[in-house]
Amino acid sequence: MDNPRIIVHCDLDAFYAAVETLHHGFDESIPLIIGSDPENGRGRGIVSTCNYAARAYGIRSAMAISEAWRRCPGQPYGNAIYIRGSRGLYSRASRKVMKILKPSAQFFEQASIDEAYLDITEQVENNWDSALALCRKLQEEIMQVIGLSASFGIASNRILAKMASEVNKPNGIFRILPDELPDFFEGRNIREVPGIGKKRATQLHEWGITTIDEMYTYGEISLSRITGERFAAWITRVYEGRTSSEISPLRSRKSIGKEHTFDYDRENYQVVLENLLSIVRRVMKSAREVGVSGRLAEVKIRYTGFETHTHGRSIPVTMDDEEVFVSLAEKLFANNVQTNKKIRLIGFRLGHLDTPKTKQTRLLSIIEEE
Ligand SMILES: [Mg+2]
Repeated sequence: MDNPRIIVHCDLDAFYAAVETLHHGFDESIPLIIGSDPENGRGRGIVSTCNYAARAYGIRSAMAISEAWRRCPGQPYGNAIYIRGSRGLYSRASRKVMKILKPSAQFFEQASIDEAYLDITEQVENNWDSALALCRKLQEEIMQVIGLSASFGIASNRILAKMASEVNKPNGIFRILPDELPDFFEGRNIREVPGIGKKRATQLHEWGITTIDEMYTYGEISLSRITGERFAAWITRVYEGRTSSEISPLRSRKSIGKEHTFDYDRENYQVVLENLLSIVRRVMKSAREVGVSGRLAEVKIRYTGFETHTHGRSIPVTMDDEEVFVSLAEKLFANNVQTNKKIRLIGFRLGHLDTPKTKQTRLLSIIEEE
């Protein structure tokens, strides 16, 4: 049998709150709540996220902002800080973190703005102690260079690595060795398995199942009568460490797209087309950087007044050839643009992505024929 892969899940701790704290120089011990305007406790929106100091008061994501205010009022009634949050800051911090992580992995996958999976099997030469040391080094580097704290989980597949990164949060590292699996699951609440939500947990509670090992001892066949076969088979694989360890930029990415909003609505279609083609070239450049090719071209046109249309065309095999998609986009635009309207936004999306095994031959001629 092959050696198990060594998969790392890196998850930044209270990411948005940490970035804001760093940016504004806030005191970490003061509750910080990011979300809609609390309007002195009368606000009707929700909490987007908060720092650990606020979590200590039971404040959570998606809680009513008025409830957060009741628990931790802001000025002048209390010292909690309420802010709206700024997407740009988060993306910039995220890019810096990913830049530190990526070179340490043979396969790398950014799963969200503050999470990534790394397959480091080759880098650490199958050595689980070296894996621990590498994560410690990355954790320190992220703190030193960017000032953010991150948690790491190390295990033989994705889902276990993700569970492991939660164990010692914040600023934690936790490793599950392949032969430690039954011990790890013993007495652990079923809700700790990503993918088991409230509804599923309630259903299992009704049968007296609260921990992962209880669920497993129930047996796949009995369990499938409660939960259905698919879930029972899946959770059995989770318990036995047989779920996927494949790390690929595609898993978290269904398409690559970019768009451009004009500073004023355009009626010069030549200018719009030139813009579109430069967007296509940039999209194809990112596709090549990530190492993927696509089978679907989609052009998005938004007219004055927000009327939006997308026009798509797929090709028989996936490709990353820039000229193929430039030509497709050009045709999609020419055939569909409504020339009696001004254009507000133009965009392009490459979809039906795949990682190419071998380079496909150019398809340009096939497209020209139609
Ligand atoms: Mg996080």
